[in-house]
Amino acid sequence: MRPIALAAAVALLGLTAAGPAQAYCRTMTSRVRAQEGECPMFGVALSWRNLCTGYSLYRANIPAGLTLPDMDRITASSTGAWGRVACDDNGREPQYYRIIPNGQTSNPTGYNPYGSNSNTVAFRPKWEDDALHRPGTIAITVVTFDSLTGEIFDADIELNSRATANPGGFVFASARAPEPDECDLQTILTHEFGHFLGLAHSNITRAVMYPTAGLGEIRSDLNSDDSAGICAIYPERATPPGRCLGLPYGGLATTPGGATVVGPNNVSCAVGRAPRGGAGALGLAAIALVTLARRRRRAPGVNRD
Ligand SMILES: [Zn+2]
Repeated sequence: MRPIALAAAVALLGLTAAGPAQAYCRTMTSRVRAQEGECPMFGVALSWRNLCTGYSLYRANIPAGLTLPDMDRITASSTGAWGRVACDDNGREPQYYRIIPNGQTSNPTGYNPYGSNSNTVAFRPKWEDDALHRPGTIAITVVTFDSLTGEIFDADIELNSRATANPGGFVFASARAPEPDECDLQTILTHEFGHFLGLAHSNITRAVMYPTAGLGEIRSDLNSDDSAGICAIYPERATPPGRCLGLPYGGLATTPGGATVVGPNNVSCAVGRAPRGGAGALGLAAIALVTLARRRRRAPGVNRD
């Protein structure tokens, strides 16, 4: 009896997930899919459970041609695009979640469950050196979350930057006119901040959350599908109580403080298909979802705003 009941449940969920109104996908604690191309449908959907969090720019390894002010401007544009989404037709119901700049950090990517943290945006000068960093991927977002509740604790964005030691990396353009062999940084970061917020990939080719982008392509304006996705996670009616301090979990760490990457024990959203069959299209991002082995015990005094 049990296998029959389970199969029925899967079929029902599959029909729901494949409905035309829901092309976006939310990242789940489980990556199991009924069929390739459908949203993961098991486990709990990931989200931040406070009002806002902060991010910090990792100040090492910024490639030539880019400056910290460039990064400040572009990350602000990328986070601001998600923050401005209105969830109703008259713009009176914004999605409530905010990502606040926390300046710079020398803290490495990772999550420290016993202390302060940084949600980082970092250029990585060496790629393909472990299971998280697959060839041909422009960027990844490492999300650490509670595997039981889906609460996000930490999110770190890493960009595969071309360097002497990393010839397979990419050149990121700060201007809004990337060369044909460059990646538009704002397009890439807007996509990665979608992962940061709990979105997975969409099968809508015009969506920011579509898994691939061509070199020289600009696609940083949120599509209605992107907006629908973020509004499903952070609708105004679900705004939690409290106030926004804009700090990461456990408080802000700006210097190395023992943060470690937990895992990796799961990697999803592998390099995607080329959009519209375009030559030169590359995987926009993988999201490396790092689950905690057990529910985190919240220490007294931990700042969760
Ligand atoms: Zn992605």
